[in-house]
Amino acid sequence: MPAPAFRRILLKLSGEALMGSGQFGIDPQETARIAGEVKLAQAAGHELCLVVGGGNIFRGLAASQQGFDRANADYMGMLATVMNALAVQNALEQAGVDTRVQSAIPMPSVCEPYIRRRAERHLEKGRVVIFAAGTGNPYFTTDTGAALRAAEMKCDAIFKGTSVDGVYDADPKKVPTATRYAEVSFSKVLADDLRVMDASAIAMCRDNNIPIVVFNIRETGNLARVLAGEGVSTIVK
Ligand code: UDP
Repeated sequence: MPAPAFRRILLKLSGEALMGSGQFGIDPQETARIAGEVKLAQAAGHELCLVVGGGNIFRGLAASQQGFDRANADYMGMLATVMNALAVQNALEQAGVDTRVQSAIPMPSVCEPYIRRRAERHLEKGRVVIFAAGTGNPYFTTDTGAALRAAEMKCDAIFKGTSVDGVYDADPKKVPTATRYAEVSFSKVLADDLRVMDASAIAMCRDNNIPIVVFNIRETGNLARVLAGEGVSTIVK
């Protein structure tokens, strides 16, 4: 079997990916389906790191606009990402995939603290590593956390799972003539504010040469297809 183009990837999912058709929280069926996607990708020979956001439970910025102290609200948001990480770990283990959660905010009775060398060892042993609590700092997002961990873990690419099949020149849900880019540069994403990930995450990927593959995670089997070079996606590089 030839070595896959993206051997080690970091899969970034927003918290909303776990909601399924709901408006809030974690849908166990949808979480199990996503675990199945990860399992398929791993079976195809890829090493996987995961970062899950927390927006299905709590967003610091939105809460601060309603009166919460921003830093305090951001810590609450980071705790939400830990809940999501545990939910995904649970689903992966039920699917028979060995998994470790590492949190940027140490909470040793819940999961491991983030230790890069230890995470490396988990990946070598065939485990999926879920990085929780983003960067561990307020005023950041899990997109930036994903870019940071992808750089530290020397991932070949970030796979950003969304509800659309790539990056378009306009919102495809609103503009019927919107067209999808097969490939787009980091500088165009930043200049045109194409909203792939937040600007600090894009800049970090650009500075460290980490391509971002944007694809639709809602289509079952799609992660493995895109990894095999067969599915529809946009590559930002
Ligand atoms: N957050 C933070 N620092 C980080 C990562 C996340 O403060 O490094 C907080 C922030 O409040 C954010 C929330 O955690 O709103 C949830 O993360 P995010 O909004 O990135 O989740 P997503 O939109 O991907 O679901």
